[in-house]
Amino acid sequence: MKNIKDILPGKVSTEAEELFCYGFDASSIGGLPSAVVRPVNTDEVSRVAAFAFKQEAPLIPRGAGSGMTAGAVAVKDSIIVSLEAMNKILEIDEKNLVVAVEPGVINSHLQKALEPRGLFYPPDPSSMDFCTIGGNVAENAGGPRALKYGVTRDYVLGLELVLPDGRVITTGVKTHKGVVGYDLARLIVGSEGTLAVITKVFLKVLPLPEETITLLCTFTKLSGAAMAVPKIAAARIIPRTLEFMDQGAISAVENYKPVGFPKDAEALLLIEVDGPLNSISKDAEKIASICSSLGANVSVADDVFAKQRLWEARRAVSQALYRISPSKINEDIVVPRSKISDMLHLLKEIGDKYRLKIVNFGHAGDGNIHVNIMTDKSDEENYQRAEKAVKDVFEATLKLGGTISGEHGIGLTKSRYVGMELSSDSIELMKAIKRVFDPKGIMNPGKMFPPNDS
Ligand SMILES: Cc1cc2nc3c(=O)[nH]c(=O)nc-3n(C[C@H](O)[C@H](O)[C@H](O)COP(=O)(O)OP(=O)(O)OC[C@H]3O[C@@H](n4cnc5c(N)ncnc54)[C@H](O)[C@@H]3O)c2cc1C
Repeated sequence: MKNIKDILPGKVSTEAEELFCYGFDASSIGGLPSAVVRPVNTDEVSRVAAFAFKQEAPLIPRGAGSGMTAGAVAVKDSIIVSLEAMNKILEIDEKNLVVAVEPGVINSHLQKALEPRGLFYPPDPSSMDFCTIGGNVAENAGGPRALKYGVTRDYVLGLELVLPDGRVITTGVKTHKGVVGYDLARLIVGSEGTLAVITKVFLKVLPLPEETITLLCTFTKLSGAAMAVPKIAAARIIPRTLEFMDQGAISAVENYKPVGFPKDAEALLLIEVDGPLNSISKDAEKIASICSSLGANVSVADDVFAKQRLWEARRAVSQALYRISPSKINEDIVVPRSKISDMLHLLKEIGDKYRLKIVNFGHAGDGNIHVNIMTDKSDEENYQRAEKAVKDVFEATLKLGGTISGEHGIGLTKSRYVGMELSSDSIELMKAIKRVFDPKGIMNPGKMFPPNDS
């Protein structure tokens, strides 16, 4: 790409190795960009955008590349704008419980900076040790704690944005309330880099909860775990996490990073409550009693190390499954929590129909199941069966009143299924909004909308 190196001298790479590395994300899809640019401030992002606008070159914002749906992967002749060097926590305003961060800040770095001050940023994607806040905003990331505390959207107060032509705007507020004009900040949340580049984020934070109690409930029958989820909600308890792993997920983790989960258990729930000790002790007792009545073996993590071990194991499920099946298909459907049992039953039927192993885990408390279809891309016939299974999974999800993505977004991998959930009028309206932001269609083209339609 002619003259691109003059835009930000020393911060642009066109080396083949780098182009390759920046062309992929955590989906197994990739492409080669023309250049990778690593700006260090908003002005530099603005200059890159203005250049791309003039050249009509696709501009692809990128955080850590941990996305599961190929949102950050390169398309032909594109410029990847990597926000990794914009990684400063700019302000922690303890009086107003607001923080300002650059988009490249790693999620867990923010968590660790806040905790010693008694502050808490709840969104905790399992990728928190490597994904960025900018990527979290662009994907509206969730995590185990979303059950009680909500997702990234619930913490974004305001954003600084670089528009595709290079103009810089600040939208939203730095206060806890604000209703002036359309809520453009919320529109950007979950927009997957298709509207603008996020260059600064103003987030709400909370006081750190006093205590947590972590319960591990292992079930001999999958149905017991599925029934426990709505029963806990019906008991008027909202734990901060209610994570689910089926037998396939349990044995994958035990073979990868053993923590002593019983391999013969059909399912487990990892449940955490937080708040003042006297009130959460009662909640923990009630949860233990509900799970025991459904046949669970319940244990409480004794100390911080035991808790950490359990959470590390839970966060390792995805990697453990990739070791078994490097080209597995990972979907992240959501159904009403009262329908989890029905959904698990349907997933079993779909697996049997297509002769494929399906491993399920995820954030059961909010009905968000990570459905992992264990397939092998090098075996064409096997992979075709897996793709048919994906369609059946989405049909079943929508029939049960759910949605085809709870947190991973659409990107490229799910773009052809969007029309199963959204009406053509909704898609047209979204495309019209994109045209207002991005009249030349340079922002992350081909993502989020049905193919040949962006
Ligand atoms: C092991 C593993 C576990 C995971 N667990 C979870 C989980 O529990 N919950 C969850 O929600 N997700 C999870 N994910 C998915 C992923 O980590 C999230 O989607 C995360 O938010 C992506 O952040 P990133 O910095 O890696 O973004 P990237 O992958 O780099 O980009 C993702 C999208 O955001 C856009 N983007 C990135 N930065 C910006 C920016 N500054 N401005 C505009 N657009 C931008 C990109 O264009 C792309 O469309 C997991 C992934 C892995 C590999």
